[in-house]
Amino acid sequence: MTQEKHKPTGTMFQSMVATGEKTPTTATSDAELQYRSIFENAVEGIYQTTVNGQYLRVNPALSKIYGYESPEALIDDLTDIAGQLYLDPTRRDAFKKAMADEGIVRDFEAQIYRADGTIIWITENARCVRGAAGKILYYEGTVEDITRRKADEQQIRLLAKVFESVGDGILIVDRDLVVRAVNPAYETITSFSEQELTDKPLDILAPGYHEKTFLPAIWHEVNLRGTWTGEATCRRLDGTPFVATLSASTVKDENGELSHTVITCADISFRKKQEHRIKHQASYDFLTNLPNRWLINDRLEQAISRAFRQKTVLSVLYLDLNGFKQINDGMGHQAGDELLRSVASRLRSSTRLSDIVGRLGGDEFLIVATDVNDQNSSKKLADKILYSFAHPFVIEGREIYCLPSIGISHYPNDGNTAQLLIRNADMAMFTAKQNKARTAVCFESHMLSAASERLSIENDLRRALERQEFVLYFQPKVESASHGIVAAEALVRWQHPERGLVPPGAFISFAEECGLIAAIGEWTLREACRQFVSWRAAGLSIKSVSVNLSPVQFLDSHLIDVVKRILNETKIDPNCLELELTEGAMSVDIEKAITTLGTLKALGVKLSIDDFGTGYSSLAYLKRLPIDIVKIDRSFVKDLDHNPADSDIVGAIIGLADRLGFGVVAEGVETAGQANILGATQCALLQGYLFGRPLNAVEFARMASKPAAP
Ligand code: C2E
Ligand code: MG
Ligand code: MG
Repeated sequence: MTQEKHKPTGTMFQSMVATGEKTPTTATSDAELQYRSIFENAVEGIYQTTVNGQYLRVNPALSKIYGYESPEALIDDLTDIAGQLYLDPTRRDAFKKAMADEGIVRDFEAQIYRADGTIIWITENARCVRGAAGKILYYEGTVEDITRRKADEQQIRLLAKVFESVGDGILIVDRDLVVRAVNPAYETITSFSEQELTDKPLDILAPGYHEKTFLPAIWHEVNLRGTWTGEATCRRLDGTPFVATLSASTVKDENGELSHTVITCADISFRKKQEHRIKHQASYDFLTNLPNRWLINDRLEQAISRAFRQKTVLSVLYLDLNGFKQINDGMGHQAGDELLRSVASRLRSSTRLSDIVGRLGGDEFLIVATDVNDQNSSKKLADKILYSFAHPFVIEGREIYCLPSIGISHYPNDGNTAQLLIRNADMAMFTAKQNKARTAVCFESHMLSAASERLSIENDLRRALERQEFVLYFQPKVESASHGIVAAEALVRWQHPERGLVPPGAFISFAEECGLIAAIGEWTLREACRQFVSWRAAGLSIKSVSVNLSPVQFLDSHLIDVVKRILNETKIDPNCLELELTEGAMSVDIEKAITTLGTLKALGVKLSIDDFGTGYSSLAYLKRLPIDIVKIDRSFVKDLDHNPADSDIVGAIIGLADRLGFGVVAEGVETAGQANILGATQCALLQGYLFGRPLNAVEFARMASKPAAP
């Protein structure tokens, strides 16, 4: 910068004043000094320019606004206002036109280039100074840098847009909590109109959902920290409540005093509902609406903690429905679902409200009873449940019997975690399932080893058929009058390579469970028929062979075809084949049982009810069943010699069977005393160790070919 350009501004002022219309004076008057001071020290830029666009005089403020080192530098460098200053050169034309038309320009806003090329916003107020003849001498005016204000305005426009268009409701309240502004979203959410809200005290919460201290606590927090966020139940115009995330933040004035609070309100009621639904789905069984495995576990853990603190006992009942698979397969899944729902409601109504009743999946349910004193009270609960299952379920208009097997474990004796208690109750349930008479069993530690053995048996069982490890044993049935062998009951055994001869009680139920019973049953039936035919061909004079059918086989829709096929294959006289069924097989769905039995009977085979008297069936329906023989269960025969009640029962069964035209076989005859009593009560056929244990085919044939012992 040259020394010349650094002319003292005082000179500038003088020269500027000198260019005025007044006659210049050489002496600087007081007034002039004052004007000069104003010019020099004004915050606004002040200028004089020619109409052509050259600066004549400028004050320091203007050179500062335009980014020049000094007024002189500005005057020297900026010589073409239209071309150099304005971003849009046509602004100069507009400026000049306004001057020509009005002689004055007010609040003329434009973007301009500063000396360093940066762009700023300015506003100008100017007038034109005319000579005596009215000719424009020059323009003079002021300039203000409004870049900041422009940015603010832009920001405000942006914020206003946000305020108008966000999905969240926004309320602005003053320090007295009077609503000053509300956005359209808040109106949409709540159905309140702007007029109904503005200038009214803030009233946003639904009444009755919050403590009295709720709002004061929020305001306290807002005042203290400047912001608060949380969930609240707000209200809509019609009074309905909705859950919202509210957040409040303060706005302070230039003195740092609270002036407003901005409250945003996001309606999360839909999300809440979704969350609730998802939570429910994740914790409750869809079909029965009972807690599912996950929730049961959780609740059981909580119950354990409580029992631990209060030193009380818990019991866990594991229920599995007997024969559910058959019902489900036989009647269809819809019927199965209906049954499960009915079971759930029966369980709920036979337990206390404080008990946990849940569905583990499939046909397995779990009950956690708190408030149990000892094993006895859980047994009582189990009995109550069993009792409630004694009435048939009415499914699709049909009466269905479906009993559960129940296993029970206790906290703290049988485990101290949910997992252990459930596992042990499951094991006890398994034992219950094996056991025909007892349907509720408490866990005992030996069941653990039994379970691992079970697993290995199950694995072996899958291969037993192809390895031909099954064998048939035959037990004689004798005439009670002569004790001569007249028939044989085929009883399957498993010749296990390591375990030796495994009795059917140890594997039939696994076979039923893992779906192998159909194949094993078919093999047994074929083998028994084949053996009988070959005995008869060899001249053995027995009249029939009987084969046991598992309930699972009986309910299997393929049974009829299998029997037909085997009758054809083996050429056995159907009259010589007897099929033994337990009451349980028939009581599931009595109408269907009658149909199946009828079809079997039409094939010519004989039918008998095995273990008669142990099931739940009533004598009433006995006469509706197309059967030939009733086999009195061993349990009635056992104490026959010394229990008069049993001999009465046996007498009654024989009498009834006789009247209905059924033959009778007494099972489990071990003593001559029993045989005598049975003979005296007209029981035609006897079976039991007294006359012969089950034997292999060769031994049986040898025994049966001997003349009867006198
Ligand atoms: P079940 O049909 O009632 O067969 C009679 C069971 O009682 C046989 O046991 C037999 O050995 C036993 N027993 C016979 N007389 C006496 C006696 O005087 N005293 C005593 N204490 N027991 C006697 P096993 O062979 O162990 O069969 C048990 C059950 O397994 C059978 O009861 C039957 O329900 C089932 N089972 C046997 N073989 C088959 C089969 O091939 N298929 C099916 N599904 N089940 C079978
Ligand atoms: Mg039998
Ligand atoms: Mg039996």
